[in-house]
This record gives sequence, structure tokens and C-alpha cells, in this order.
Amino acid sequence: MEVTGRLYIDGSWTEGAGKRFEQRNPARLPEVTGTWPEATEAEVHKALAAAESAFREWSRAPAVKRGDLFRKVLAGIDARRDELAAALTAENGKTLKDSHAEIQSGYREMEFQVGEGLRLNGRTTPSIREGIFSYDVRVPLGVVSVVSPWNFPFNVPCRKITPALMAGNTVVLKPASLTPRTGELFVDLFHEAGFPPGVISFLTGSGRSVGSKLVTASEVRAVSFTGSTEVGVGIHKRASGQMIRTQLEMGGKNALVVLADADLEAAAEAAVTAAYTCAGQWCTATSRLIVEAPVYDQLLRRVVEKAKELKIGDGTDPEATMGPVCGSDQVESIARYLEIGKSSGATVSLGGNVAKDGKLAEGCFIEPTIFSDVTRDMVIAREEIFGPVLSVIKAESLEEAIEITNESEYGLTSSVYTRDIERAMRFVTEVETGFTHINLMTSYREPQLPFGGVKMSGFGLPEAGSSGIEFFTEHKVVYIKQ
Ligand code: NAP
Ligand code: MG
Repeated sequence: MEVTGRLYIDGSWTEGAGKRFEQRNPARLPEVTGTWPEATEAEVHKALAAAESAFREWSRAPAVKRGDLFRKVLAGIDARRDELAAALTAENGKTLKDSHAEIQSGYREMEFQVGEGLRLNGRTTPSIREGIFSYDVRVPLGVVSVVSPWNFPFNVPCRKITPALMAGNTVVLKPASLTPRTGELFVDLFHEAGFPPGVISFLTGSGRSVGSKLVTASEVRAVSFTGSTEVGVGIHKRASGQMIRTQLEMGGKNALVVLADADLEAAAEAAVTAAYTCAGQWCTATSRLIVEAPVYDQLLRRVVEKAKELKIGDGTDPEATMGPVCGSDQVESIARYLEIGKSSGATVSLGGNVAKDGKLAEGCFIEPTIFSDVTRDMVIAREEIFGPVLSVIKAESLEEAIEITNESEYGLTSSVYTRDIERAMRFVTEVETGFTHINLMTSYREPQLPFGGVKMSGFGLPEAGSSGIEFFTEHKVVYIKQ
């Protein structure tokens, strides 16, 4: 059924006054899932003005009141899981199982950040003089913009918007144009829960027009963005010129390092899960598998065997374990990397093509691909592909494996598989990523710890954990003469 998508401004849903754009199901491109408004300049300004005027009252409400409203959102997520998962699969393509997993992880992020919002403590600090009492409190910033990506259109808003609102800010959300429906349903949970008008608004439309306005508008105090490094860097340049603070979660080229003494079965399982879940379109995906020479052939064989078991298909098909990539632009971009890989001299150990068999031809399907004999200078070893493609690289030693891991311009996540605690800890100490793992896949994470990258993968305070809410507040210091 085709949805007539809407904007949410000042507590009301509207079809908008501007042009509309189509969204298509990546498993069956002829299927239009809905049309969405391109928010006009006037609508952007109306949303920002509503956010600005809602701020005063919202920021003064006790956090426990905000928490009570969030508990209704959590109950709403619980009640509407199937609807949310179906919408997510229809527009993103991931399997229903992966959609349910994303909803559950968003739920956990929200739950944790609600708790953080109830513990927004300041500090009293002994004065250096007699008769002076001093302390600091954490205060919200004002209006904040959230620009979200299409690969985790539910989890990312949960992780960004909960701390922003719990701290007392008001929010304008712009979803990726490939996944507006998930964003609309997310915001509807807030509408149903009874959040006051203007506290959260929802504007669809292109990044270049609507997104651009939201990251430089005079009402906006902070921008939290997840997406590509190129767009993130551009946003930072423009926003910082206006003294708007930014939190950027961007690209990655994550490495899983397997040393010769590792549990190879566990390492192969981790590589395949992290490389192909969500068709490789998660920022924490393993895209480089760096293997110590003595076990290179053996591990490669196991990884190929496991990846062969993946069954690509429509995400609603219970048999499918890997869905399509999200849209024809992704197919084009990944297909280009498949050609680059082949012509650079890497060996195609599995897949290597756009999948066109039977019904797959209607959608955006890419074969799970493994390139072996990849050398560190090759483009497929260096650039983010953001698809179901794994590059397997041989390293002669732990030192070389660390060197290869760190020569990437990115630094989001990494893993090492080994039973040797000394070698594992050396990896942990020397690796240049925002988070890392020993004997766990590169994608493993929990909501109570910060999530963010270094180098070109991340900028500003990380999301989640205790830094999630820190980003959305500033310190006000008070001195009192007794
Ligand atoms: P993208 O093109 O950067 O888009 C991300 C968001 O930014 C979308 O909502 C997009 O809107 C908007 N946007 C585009 N241009 C803009 C501009 N000039 N000003 C303001 N907003 C703008 O990235 P994507 O194609 O959605 O996602 C893929 C990338 O995201 C990958 O590189 C991946 O690594 C990265 N990613 C990183 C993380 C992480 O946490 N590190 C998580 C997920 C994804 P439109 O959709 O309308 O263009
Ligand atoms: Mg894009």
C-alpha cells in the first residue's frame, strides 16, 4: 500500500505545501512504498520557530516528567514492533529479523538514555575562599537538529533524540530520503505519547535543501549527524562557522584481525556476521579481514564456506538471510568497487556480481563477495564500500596487522581474535579506533558505553553511554557569597 507521507510541525501532521518525492522498495524497485513532501523553506522555518518557542517550558519541566513521556514511547515501540519492522524492511531492505533487532537495540538505547536524563548531576566544588559556595549545573542548549541515515533509521534517532530531549532540548529530525517512513512512525510514537507541540518536529526532503537549512539555521545550537564522511565534513564546516556544535558519526573501513593461535571457527563466524548483516551496510561492518600468514588459507576457506550459506532475497521472505542493498545508487557504487577489485588483481573467492537471477533482477541485490589476495595498497583495502564485500589481507605478524589496521583514514571499530592475552592487549593499546574488541565481532556494542569513531569516522562527543547526553548540554557555574 502506498503511503502518503507527512511532515510533523508544531504538534500537527501535514502533507506539506511543496513537491513530493517517491520512495521505492529496494527488494522490488517497481514498487513505490509512498510519496513524501519536500519541506518548503516556510515549513522549515515554522518547525524551527515551534521548536524555539517550545524550548522554554520543556527545558524547565522536571526531567522525571520527560521520562514519564518516554516510558509511553517505549510502550508504544513494544506495541508496534511488527508495524515498525515491516516499514523498515519495506524501505531499507534488511531482513525482518534484522529490522526487529534494530528496533530492539533502539529500545535499549532509549531506555538507557532516559535513565541518564534522570541523573543529570552537576558538582559542588570547594571554594578557594571563605564564605563562597560554588557549583555547576548542566543546562540544555536549545533547538537541536538531528540528521539521520538510511541504514539505521530507527536506532539512530533513538540514540540521538532521547538524550537531546531528556536534557531539555527541542529537536527537529530530518530522516534520510531513502527511509522516511521509519522516521514518520518513530515521530508518531512521540505524538501518541503526548509530547507538547514543537518539542519534536519531523521534516522530510533532500539533504541538500532541507538538511542544509537545518544545520545552519540561526535557531539551531547543535547538530547530530550520522552519514557519510563527505557530507559530515561539509556540515561541520558550515555549522562551526555559525558556532553550532556538531556530533558526527561517519564512515568506516573496519578491520578484524585474526592471529595464528585464534579460535578460527569463532573468528570466521564473526567475520561473516559482521560483513554481511544488513548487506554490509552498517557502519561497524567488518570490511577488512587481516589474517596472520600461517592460518590465512584455512581461515579463508572457513569464511567462504560460511558466506556461501547466505541466502539473498526479499527481507520479508523468512528463508532470506541477506536482503538487498538500499537503492540503485548503492548498487551502482558497490558494482563499481566490484569491478575495481577484479581489475586490481584480487582473487574473487566468492560472488563478485550484482545478482540478477529471476526475481532478484527487480531489486538491488549484490552477491555476498569475498576478495582474497588483497594487498594493502588496493582501493578495495582502503575505501569504504558499504556493501556485502569483504577484503581478505595477509599479514606476516601482529606488528604488520596493526600497521595495516591503522593506515586507514577511518577509525570506527576493530577486533582481534587470539588466545594470547599479551598480543591481544598490544593490539588494544596500539589500534586507532573509537572502540575495539578481543574475540568479539567488530559490530558488537552496548548502549551504556559511548559509541563513536576517531580520525575520519567521528567528530565531537560520541553518542550513547554517558557522553550521549553530555553533547546536548552545557555547564552553568554558580558562585554564591554566604
Ligand atoms: P549521507 O549521504 O551522508 O546522508 C546522511 C544524511 O545526511 C541523510 O539524511 C541525508 O539526506 C543528509 N544529507 C545529505 N547531504 C546533506 C547536506 N548537504 N546537509 C545536510 N544533510 C545532508 O549518507 P548516507 O548515504 O545516508 O549513508 C551512508 C554513509 O553513512 C556511509 O558512509 C556510512 O558509513 C555512514 N554511516 C555511519 C554511521 C556511524 O555511526 N559511523 C552509521 C550509519 C551510516 P538525504 O537522504 O536526503 O540525502
Ligand atoms: Mg547520500
